[in-house]
Amino acid sequence: VKAAGRNGWQFFDSSMARLVEQRLDMETALRQAIEREELRLYYQPQRSLEDGKIVGAEALVRWERPGVGMVPPQEFIRLAEENGLIVALGNWVLQAACSQAMAWNKAGMPLRIAVNVSVVQLQQPDFVARVRSALKRSGLPTRCLELEITEGAVVADVLDALDKLHQIKAMGVELAVDDFGTGYSSLSYLKQMPVDRLKIDQSFVRDIPNNADDCAIVRAILAMASNLKLQVIAEGVESEDQLTFLHDEGCQEVQGYLLSPPVNADSFIARFRDAGRV
Ligand code: C2E
Ligand code: CA
Ligand code: CA
Ligand code: CA
Repeated sequence: VKAAGRNGWQFFDSSMARLVEQRLDMETALRQAIEREELRLYYQPQRSLEDGKIVGAEALVRWERPGVGMVPPQEFIRLAEENGLIVALGNWVLQAACSQAMAWNKAGMPLRIAVNVSVVQLQQPDFVARVRSALKRSGLPTRCLELEITEGAVVADVLDALDKLHQIKAMGVELAVDDFGTGYSSLSYLKQMPVDRLKIDQSFVRDIPNNADDCAIVRAILAMASNLKLQVIAEGVESEDQLTFLHDEGCQEVQGYLLSPPVNADSFIARFRDAGRV
């Protein structure tokens, strides 16, 4: 029994050590990835249900890791938030997304570019200045940038977060609440946040129109948003049935695989150049 126990510990020990080592390797590699410009942005179109036009794109980061391939964000965003690399990563994303949107703007395809912002980024004292500088350096009109913030982002230091969001809003940048309905925050935060748009989380979209509870939730979000004069975009739209339901219930915009998965910038312009409003 003792021997087995000891072996058990040895096994546990070495596998723990391996995990720690993997984590450090990943951290080093990610730090280098930012310096060596291995990060890529993919873009997923956002379509208006009012006229069917492409009105925006969400920028989603990937890591083209040499010898590994395209690494999805779920595999490195959390780590980057824990070790602080998200700040450098997020600044890169912000600048790259604004520059790309400006290039499309000049090429005759003006659209709103949506950029994900981590709570860790929002907590940085210079976050507002970073946003201002990305806009200035790219030349992108402020109203063409939208920042996606989760409900949880304002919970940590409410006054500081709200102050920054108001400053950003005052520049003319749009704000969206990402993954709406999945956070722990209460509606009182929403009331104080200067937001333009709610993004209905894909978990509520997945089973409409068949799941009565999800239909009720989506209807409730749309009714509340309408009363608060907020726009709504539904994410994770994969089927015509979902699209029809959302359209009939008055949702303004959709995003999801039904229209397109996130694609690289070249594919995006090739596919959607003529689908915009202008
Ligand atoms: P998110 O912001 O909720 O982004 C939506 C995710 O859903 C994306 O995954 C997108 O590819 C995926 N998706 C889009 N349409 C559909 C659909 O019809 N069905 C399903 N099942 N999924 C769909 P992705 O690109 O892997 O990103 C995952 C998450 O990583 C994002 O979730 C976001 O939280 C985070 N993320 C991505 N890029 C950034 C970034 O630049 N900064 C930060 N802080 N987080 C990022
Ligand atoms: Ca998002
Ligand atoms: Ca989302
Ligand atoms: Ca999500």
